[in-house]
Order: sequence, then structure tokens, then C-alpha cells
Amino acid sequence: MLSFDPDNLSFCTGNYIDGKHIPSNNNQIQVHRPSDGKAYALIPESGIEGVTQAVETAEAKRISSGWSSCSPRQRGAILRRWADLIEEDAVYLGQLEALGSTRPITDVINHEIPFTAEAIRFYAECADKYSGDLLPTRKNSLGMLIPEPYGVVGAITPWNFPLSMASWKCGPALAAGNAVVLKPSELTPFSTLRFAELAVKAGLPTGVLNIVQGSGLRTGSELVKHPLIRKVSFTGSTVTGAQIMSDAGFYGMKPVTLELGGKSPQLVFNDAGNPVDIAQRIARGFIANGGQACVAGTRLIVQRAIAPALLEQLILLCQQCRPGYTWLENSRYSPLIDSRQGNKVQRLIQQSCVEGAEVLAGGKRFEHTEEGWFWQPTLLINVGEDNCAVQEEIFGPVLTVQYFDEIDEGIALAQHDTYGLCAGVHTQSLTTAMRSMQSLNAGTVWVNRYGRSGDFIIPTGGFMGSGIGKDLGRQAFQACQRQKSVLIDF
Ligand code: NDP
Repeated sequence: MLSFDPDNLSFCTGNYIDGKHIPSNNNQIQVHRPSDGKAYALIPESGIEGVTQAVETAEAKRISSGWSSCSPRQRGAILRRWADLIEEDAVYLGQLEALGSTRPITDVINHEIPFTAEAIRFYAECADKYSGDLLPTRKNSLGMLIPEPYGVVGAITPWNFPLSMASWKCGPALAAGNAVVLKPSELTPFSTLRFAELAVKAGLPTGVLNIVQGSGLRTGSELVKHPLIRKVSFTGSTVTGAQIMSDAGFYGMKPVTLELGGKSPQLVFNDAGNPVDIAQRIARGFIANGGQACVAGTRLIVQRAIAPALLEQLILLCQQCRPGYTWLENSRYSPLIDSRQGNKVQRLIQQSCVEGAEVLAGGKRFEHTEEGWFWQPTLLINVGEDNCAVQEEIFGPVLTVQYFDEIDEGIALAQHDTYGLCAGVHTQSLTTAMRSMQSLNAGTVWVNRYGRSGDFIIPTGGFMGSGIGKDLGRQAFQACQRQKSVLIDF
């Protein structure tokens, strides 16, 4: 039985620094449950003071504990134990995640927790698998490229997948010998505290992973600017990513990994296969987590002949979604994170209709969910390329539909002026798939599927406004190391 009582869960709320939960007298920020809007806890605004304490502790402890200098295999062993503890703690950790985020408990237990543990395990394996290089130089000299940790990595995570995002940031950074100070979103702050506590239980030296709470503007930006932060890893909106990149450049020329927004196309050709199966893939791509995923496939670009059958199936799938509190075992459909996000979804749909769009399914909030923001999966037709629902990242369960006749016309429609995160291509023709894959301006192209698998070896990250660098894969591990060139004469 996975259901739980959200009013009877106890948890820590302050910062987590040097292996200790630090209660605060400075609790200023109210945290709300997305499912029913109830304010259920307060967190501190850590600001420069909390950030300084966390970062200075991290820098001191990564050196004094030997974390940065110990054998990579030792680091790997601790990360493996951490992954085991995450799985053992699945029920409590899962409840914390489901309580405060948009993820229903069954989904968290079946997907989020195993994925979080596996991401940590993947980086445990990376710890001693990648070496530097010996470089061909003159006689009587030896050239080397030696990877080494940066020092303290500043990580900032969003509210849509709090635990996975924390594992994507902490796994590679810690495996590479860095310390980490992480600021979770102020909207979903608690599961990350437990995640860090489990790392220490697994043997991570205290102080090497610290969590600071607070808003992006007053705490996140101080983290980016702190002089002892040597690298920044961020997932969130493109606007905030640009601000972070500017701050990281101005305050110490820090390298950044930025996983940002998207407006990803799902390109369906007439030969894609059975419309019932294709509709399932398309629907998962824009409905999962209430459409609140950077990779959500929110633009359907469909070839004319298959369109009627596909839309018929999509309407049915939209109508099958039912809202439910995230703490109930039978709930499958996510609420929007808060009223601000709800108002954004509502405003963009209304504006899209003013610009000529027509609602084919959904288009409004579910009835009788006044406390939380459960939005009906929405299909918008009659949208031109300039329509705001095609141009802007809505971050809700909204799919725009555009038609095409010729292959090149479809590929052209799939391109976006701002974003280049992902694209889905659905076709049985190898030639069409390859032509689309080569032409699409997207950091990831999925063919005959939509969405990530459990293959952590495949990196993720966007082009253009969708970001810089990669999360996951060995690329994320290597991006947590700087390269020192050495030339020895003998
Ligand atoms: P943000 O990008 O503003 O927030 C993401 C994280 O960055 C949060 O932890 C936030 O803190 C922090 N942050 C905000 N401003 C700064 C700053 N100047 N310096 C350092 N850290 C900062 O996203 P929002 O939550 O405001 O959501 C707005 C829109 O962003 C959504 O509608 C969606 O379109 C997009 N988005 C995209 C995500 C993705 O996965 N690519 C994830 C989340 C949102 P805090 O929340 O505590 O203020």
C-alpha cells in the first residue's frame, strides 16, 4: 500500500551542512503542496551567510577528509553504498518527493527512486574508468594531460524532478572528487535534504555535500557568485540560465553546464505505424508530469494522411486522464506545481486562441480541483508558426498540432528559432529517419520512441537556447574535471 497521510509525515526543513541539519530562526519562505495548495512548511532564506557557511565548509572538508585526493575506487564504493541506501529508503524518500512535488507516489516509487539510485551507480562506475592522456612530445620529454576536480561545484536544481536532478548533478561531481553545494528549488526543498543525509550514512565525508535552502534570487545567485565555487551546474529556465551564465562569467569565469528549456517537436510521418501505438508515445511525451519537463514533446508535426486517426486516439487518451492527490496510490496524473504555473498555462492557452488556435481537447482546469492546479491535457489546432503556443515553453500538458505534406516541409516545421533540446521522429523508413535526424537542430533525437530510457550512458543537453553542455553520460563526469597539461623534460 503506497498511499500515505500527507499531514503525518515528519521531516527536516533547514540547511544540511557538515553532516548536520541546521534548524533556522530565519524561516521566511512558505512551501505549498501542489496537489491541494496547502502551506505545509517553512524554509530559511539562507542568503549570503548560509551560502558562505556551506561553501567554506565544503572547500575545507573536501581537502581535510581526503575526498578530492583519495583513490577514485574508494569514491566509487561510497557512491555505490549511497545508491543502495536510496533504494532501501524508497518509501520515506518517495513520500517526501510525492508530498511536495508534482509526482504521484506510485510513479516516484517505480521510476524516480530507481532512476535516482541508478544515476548515482552509473557515476560510481565512472569514478575510476576515465584517465588522462599521454601526449606525443619531443625526445627526452613527457607530455601529460591530467584530469583533476575543480573544487566546489555549485548545483541549482528545479522543481519538476527534484531527486533525479539532484542525482544528475551530485553523481558526476562527487565521483570526480569535487565537493558540492546544492540549492534545490524553494518549491520542492525537502527530498534533497534526505538524499544528502543518505550520502553521509553511506560514508561520504561530512561537509562534502551540503544543501542550502532559499530562493533563486537571494540564495541561488549568491551560490553562483561565491568565489570558492569553481563550476556551476544548473537546470531550469532559459532566462535564469542566461543570468547564471552572466554571473558565472563575471564572478570568476566559471565553467557552466546549463540544461534549459525546450519546445520539442514530435514529427510523425504517414508510415509511422499503428496510430494507437503512436498516440500512446505522443501522449506520454507531453502529458507525463503534467507536461512539466524540459524534454516534453509539445509540438506535434504530423503528415496529413495519418493525422485524423492519430488525433482521434490522442483525444481519447486526453479524456482518460484523471486528477488525484500525489499521495494516493492510484493517482497517475500530475498537478501543476503552483498557481503561478497554472496562471501561465491558462494565459498562454487564452492568448493562443486569440491568435487563432482552436481547442480540440481539454483547454481548462479539471473541475472540483480548486485547491490544486490540475490542468486537462489540451490539444490546440489551427496554430501557425508564430502562435505563442508554438513559440513559448508553456510547461503544462499542452500539445499544438501542425500538418505537413512533404518530408522537408515537416522537418522545417519541426525546427524552432529559440530551442533545440529534443525531437521525436516516428517513421518506419530508415531514410526518412536518418534525413530527419541529420537535419534537426536538437541535442537529442529519439526515433520511434519519445523520452529517456534508463541508459545513463546517453547524455542529455540542448542546443541554442536549450543550454550548454551535457547532463548524464560520461560527458557529465568529464565536465566535472579540469584538465592540467604537464610537460616534463628529463
Ligand atoms: P527557474 O529557472 O527560475 O528556477 C530553477 C532554479 O533556479 C530554482 O532552484 C530557482 O530557485 C533557481 N534560480 C532562479 N533564479 C536564479 C538566479 N538568478 N540565480 C541562481 N538561481 C536561480 O524556473 P521557475 O521555477 O521560475 O519556472 C519558470 C519557467 O521555467 C517554467 O514555466 C518553465 O517554463 C521553466 N522551467 C524549466 C525547467 C527545466 O527543466 N528546463 C525546470 C523548471 C522551470 P527558486 O525556485 O528557489 O526561486
